Amino acid sequence: MITVFGSANMDLVAYVPQAPHLGETVSGTEFRTVPGGKGANQAIAAARAGAEVAFVGAVGSDAFGPALRAALDDAGVNTEGLRVVDGPSGIAHIVVEEGGGNSIIVVAGANGTVTGPSDRDLEVIAASDALLLQLELPMEAVVAAAVASPAPVILTPAPVVELPDELLDAVALLVCNEHEAAAITGLGVPDRALEALLERVPELVVTLGSKGALYGSRDGSRLWAPAVPVKVVDTTAAGDTFVGALAVARAEGRGPEQFLRFASTAAALSVQRAGASTSMPLRHEIDQALDDQPLANP
Ligand code: ATP
Repeated sequence: MITVFGSANMDLVAYVPQAPHLGETVSGTEFRTVPGGKGANQAIAAARAGAEVAFVGAVGSDAFGPALRAALDDAGVNTEGLRVVDGPSGIAHIVVEEGGGNSIIVVAGANGTVTGPSDRDLEVIAASDALLLQLELPMEAVVAAAVASPAPVILTPAPVVELPDELLDAVALLVCNEHEAAAITGLGVPDRALEALLERVPELVVTLGSKGALYGSRDGSRLWAPAVPVKVVDTTAAGDTFVGALAVARAEGRGPEQFLRFASTAAALSVQRAGASTSMPLRHEIDQALDDQPLANP
């Protein structure tokens, strides 16, 4: 089982020819509400990739709360640990311009009220093969969960902020993209950032978008997992799909080479479809895609 202790946001996405300046009103062409948040996305990715998943977090008492819970439930995620707090749910207000550029405002809402895990949450975490954490909850809550977790902690350091030693000391595996790796270490070359980060965590993956992913561990292993070449439709949530799938394969006892292939294959499937959680592949689709790569799957 995998537990995710993280955020659930409703993404409010408005499409416009050009984003308005301050004081200006423009007409949009389309509007969508899409359940998101890095925590909920990773939970859905892991559930669709075949794991039993429990989600611990909070939604508000507004209309978005039940919709966010339903998105998790529909994916088969256990939401007994999802609290309802008075006030608004977390939202991401996204303006997408015709050229594809976007601006985003995140308001934490209920996510901002989450403190450390309860005793009941800790029982669930103790029965898990991995605890997935991101940084869209208050840092004190994330640190409290990491420090108390009997299960191995997999951390996605996004949105990137300064990482306390107390947090990194409790992390088994850090998964970040190249921009986060550079921001944390001050080193723009991913291989160098990887070596620097391995002084702080025992195992690390740096994702490089269409260039694939680098892996390193303190026992001296270094691997490169190429991205699966595909026709890209929408890369939204590629990273969350990658982390969710990687956690599933790792929890099943697969070694780095295998869990990286599983994650890269899942992420490659997701970028071929539009959307966030709806683009995340199901287990049989990942297995089929792996079978279709016989040379790399002895
Ligand atoms: P996002 O913020 O868009 O969710 P991210 O920046 O966290 O993503 P990336 O490094 O862009 O993460 O992508 C994660 C993984 O997804 C990559 O390591 C790769 O395996 C896969 N991936 C991403 N983009 C592509 C692509 N264009 N083609 C194939 N695979 C891709």
